[in-house]
Amino acid sequence: MSDNMAMSPEQLQAIDKQHIWHPYSQVAQDQSPALPIVDSAQGVYLKLASGEQVIDGMSSWWCMLHGYNHPVLNAAAKAQLDKMSHVMFGGLTHEPAVRLAKLLVDITPAGLDKVFFADSGSVSVEVAIKMALQYWHSLGRPEKQRLITIKNGYHGDTFGAMASCDPVNGMHHLFSANLPQHHFLEAPPMGFDKPPCSAYLQDIRDYIAKHHHEIAAFILEPVVQGAGGMRFYSPAYLQEIKVLCDEFDLLLIADEIATGFGRSGKLFACEHAGISPDILCLGKALSGGYMTLAATLCSEKIANGICNGEASVFMHGPTFMANPLACATALASTELLLQQDWASQITNIETQLSIGLAPLRNAPDVADVRVLGAIGVVEMKQDVDKEALQSALIERGVWLRPFGKLVYTMPPFVSTNEELQQLCSAMVETLSQ
Ligand SMILES: *Cc1c(COP(=O)(O)O)cnc(C)c1O
Repeated sequence: MSDNMAMSPEQLQAIDKQHIWHPYSQVAQDQSPALPIVDSAQGVYLKLASGEQVIDGMSSWWCMLHGYNHPVLNAAAKAQLDKMSHVMFGGLTHEPAVRLAKLLVDITPAGLDKVFFADSGSVSVEVAIKMALQYWHSLGRPEKQRLITIKNGYHGDTFGAMASCDPVNGMHHLFSANLPQHHFLEAPPMGFDKPPCSAYLQDIRDYIAKHHHEIAAFILEPVVQGAGGMRFYSPAYLQEIKVLCDEFDLLLIADEIATGFGRSGKLFACEHAGISPDILCLGKALSGGYMTLAATLCSEKIANGICNGEASVFMHGPTFMANPLACATALASTELLLQQDWASQITNIETQLSIGLAPLRNAPDVADVRVLGAIGVVEMKQDVDKEALQSALIERGVWLRPFGKLVYTMPPFVSTNEELQQLCSAMVETLSQ
């Protein structure tokens, strides 16, 4: 847009209110507050058109790792842009996709050797579900059609993914006629360090023993449940679920779209349990927060099963599959992550968040404070007033997006101790009143 066509912030906000849907929102009403405009971003900061700058405690919905406007990622994207921004992936290949796929196979849990690129996290979940269904169909067991999962999960907003989200959070009743009915187990009791509850393990064993004939796969977020409740559970549950999957012929789909690339303290959350899933979904931080890219990885067993079956091909192929610009940026981001001592960075963030949020443990309105890796969660006793809290946080130089009772941060890995302290102080000041 040329300068003489530039719009004032007020004009932008007015048109935004008039025409644009934002995520999980009502269309704006006249009296709705105008949304902050982000002009640019640098490092951990969002620069607002109002002149304020705020620390992005959300890492742009958990996908930004190395900071905004990073020279290495910018250079990778620009170099690829000058070669080609996009080319179809049907019947053609290119270096960014090949190198990224090889790297993902190398760093993900053992046995995940086949990579399917998709264009968003939700689509990678759809792909994972289709892989599981097609696998059992190929093996002559088409009755294995349903999924099993745990409550409080979140796997995306498309229909297949939504059907495996928490039925209440996911508002399943609105769509019930069009949603496949899956099996929902209670979520594992909370607490990363808590010893597993044997009664819970017995219950899930009994349930699976009874229903496994019709179940294709167990889908879950390993160790950290994100948008469905910001819950952490012991890796021992994941280990046992893996045992049950093997014993009862269920595939295990690990949705690491939120946890992948270090967020929980391990490069992938499955590593806390030392297990490999049959199918793995990656997204969000895959491209370092630069653009939309996701991937579904599976084992040889799944891939061969599908390809030896009736369809002989896997029935999926997004137009923008393996977009070169996104793959080149993702490759640069992941290499940059691996070159750093990311594990110490995460441990330090975990320490800073634990110390910084500790004062809230005794605050009257706070139900729970929990920290794992670079994730800090404050669970309030009541739903928070999101708009009021957000403007109080912006005054303190911090951007967060709470939902329901949950006020949480997933700071960028490059956050300094001062930035983390500012983030925590803002949360403490606004939430202890
Ligand atoms: C965000 C998320 C998704 C959906 O990814 P989109 O890119 O928003 O479609 C799926 N699963 C988990 C665990 C997520 O956190």
